[in-house]
Amino acid sequence: NDVIVTNDLWKTYIMGEQEVHALRGVNLRIQRNEYTAIMGPSGSGKSTLMNLIGCLDSPTQGSYCLNGHDVSRLTDDELARIRNKEIGFVFQTFNLLARASALHNVELPLIYNGTPAAERIERAKFVLESVGLGSRMDHKPNEMSGGQRQRVAIARALVNSPSIILADEPTGNLDSKTSIEIMNLFEELHRQGNTIVLVTHEPDIAEHANRVVTIRDGVIASDKPSHKLVPAT
Ligand code: ADP
Ligand code: ADP
Repeated sequence: NDVIVTNDLWKTYIMGEQEVHALRGVNLRIQRNEYTAIMGPSGSGKSTLMNLIGCLDSPTQGSYCLNGHDVSRLTDDELARIRNKEIGFVFQTFNLLARASALHNVELPLIYNGTPAAERIERAKFVLESVGLGSRMDHKPNEMSGGQRQRVAIARALVNSPSIILADEPTGNLDSKTSIEIMNLFEELHRQGNTIVLVTHEPDIAEHANRVVTIRDGVIASDKPSHKLVPAT
């Protein structure tokens, strides 16, 4: 029941004469309904790994199986289709369409894959209600707080029932009280059975996950249960 299996994953960027080995043989296995935080200092390869896991980019070497399908040698179009169906992205900067309502923002992934309008609206409303925004569906991003905007982004991530929710520093632009609300929402989504991968450099945020994987210089330096799961001695 593995959702993510990477086997000796390498990513090398060419910069002029220089080769930068951003990932140097990552072996990672994530099961359905795990809640994993990926930590590491700046430049350690977190974004690169997240781009590969999220089917935004392909590895230089090694393989990546998503739900048992090898997705490491696909064309950009094939990757885009799998991304739309399998990955729900949540970003630090929300990445919402400024001129569109919350409802329309959440409908976008369904427009992309050709879902009929009536079903689109029904599903978008359902996920907006599930993140507590039932009364804000007609609001535009600039009429909402940061926490509400991130809830819209989370609803958009959920609307296609993805295999993985991939959240990159989701609280990076939020104050500490709102950050806790958003982390509580992720915990609720995890309880409901979602598989979550959270990229963060903040230990306090990583502790909301059940498993903490630390990357250093492009390799996994440690992989352990979060303190939340480790009994106090
Ligand atoms: P993190 O997200 O942990 O800060 P990154 O994955 O962004 O780490 O970067 C890992 C390494 O790869 C760094 O040395 C970075 O400079 C390099 N890198 C990242 N993206 C690119 C790119 N598009 N081109 C060249 N080098 C890159
Ligand atoms: P195909 O060449 O038709 O994509 P596959 O066996 O790779 O054959 O895929 C069978 C079905 O699974 C297709 O509908 C495809 O869109 C879907 N699929 C492909 N990759 C993935 C994936 N990583 N996770 C879930 N479904 C996928």
